[in-house]
Amino acid sequence: MDMEAGAPLDTRGRHLRDLRISVTDRCNLRCGYCMPADIFGPGYRFLPRSELLNYDEITRLARVFAGIGVRKVRLTGGEPLLRRDLWRLVEKLRAVPGIEDIALTTNGLLLPDQARALKRAGLNRVTISLDSLDDVVFGRMNGQGVGVATVLKAIRCAQEEGFSPLKLNMVVQRGINDHEIEPMAEHWRGTDVIVRFIEFMDVGNTNGWRMESVVSAREILSRLEARWPLESVEPNYPGEVARRWRYRDGKGEVGIISSVTNTFCGDCTRARLSAKGELYTCLFASRGHDLRALVRGGLDDAALSREITALWRARDDRYSELRAGQTTPPPKPEMSYLGG
Ligand code: SAM
Ligand code: SF4
Ligand code: SF4
Repeated sequence: MDMEAGAPLDTRGRHLRDLRISVTDRCNLRCGYCMPADIFGPGYRFLPRSELLNYDEITRLARVFAGIGVRKVRLTGGEPLLRRDLWRLVEKLRAVPGIEDIALTTNGLLLPDQARALKRAGLNRVTISLDSLDDVVFGRMNGQGVGVATVLKAIRCAQEEGFSPLKLNMVVQRGINDHEIEPMAEHWRGTDVIVRFIEFMDVGNTNGWRMESVVSAREILSRLEARWPLESVEPNYPGEVARRWRYRDGKGEVGIISSVTNTFCGDCTRARLSAKGELYTCLFASRGHDLRALVRGGLDDAALSREITALWRARDDRYSELRAGQTTPPPKPEMSYLGG
């Protein structure tokens, strides 16, 4: 089958290449910028199991998406490793024609027990989130008092299983962990770990986002450069979200993700599938399209493909580009729910 035939373009000429799949809305951490504990507390109603797409439904949708251009899949959440035997999903996705790359974003807590099975099932890449190397700061940020050693262990396990280079996500919040930018870079310089510094984003409606809390990519870069001269590296592929920088002394590279101060909507080839099977054509879309209803309603693959193609063709999203002009942002879905 010619995978490119009929690959749809959206209204801004963008292909659909990457699919981020949220496999659960639950998490074992409560990072304040994502699922603040006072809102996602004991009384919070997460999705019941019957609402979640099962692995066969996810795989079927992935096959349809691959047929219209998707080449990369990222499993995320919530915390994806809370979903039982996630390796089984990876194994199924591995068998889908057209999907070249399967990645996972995780907080790492459950990785040591699962890294081997995931690798064997065909997982290509792992990104682990770690916001600080200081136990007090990290414990406060993750809302559960989890220590840094737990994540360092996950990183070691991933490396031992051959997930290299490994990416590490650090969300930078002014006054909370921005003093950790240089120590984080220093710790991982000269290793196969690529730290990606991420601007604190205004995802969802509950994380108390304020522009003053954002440390801009420009500031992050100049602080790093003051210590270690850097040079720009070409993107790995068009539309890569992180700007890449290499230490001039050969000690590896870092990434900086400027989703707030310097947007990349023009190259955005990403779609998101929420835990209950809605398609979001933008991280900031105010609503999704219910693909689960179509899947469970008995549509065949060709009809599903036509539906998704039509949704993509109609896509006009460029939230980050427009954000600058807005005073009151519209309600948005929570990131844990639709997948970061
Ligand atoms: N639980 C997994 C984890 O933390 O890696 C996967 C899901 S999490 C939503 C995916 C990524 O989104 C994490 O690296 C997290 O730090 C990032 N993230 C969450 N909320 C964010 C925000 N408000 N601004 C920037 N990045 C955010
Ligand atoms: Fe959980 Fe990841 Fe959100 Fe933190 S960023 S609360 S680990 S989903
Ligand atoms: Fe893509 Fe929407 Fe983010 Fe722009 S704001 S880069 S369109 S997900």
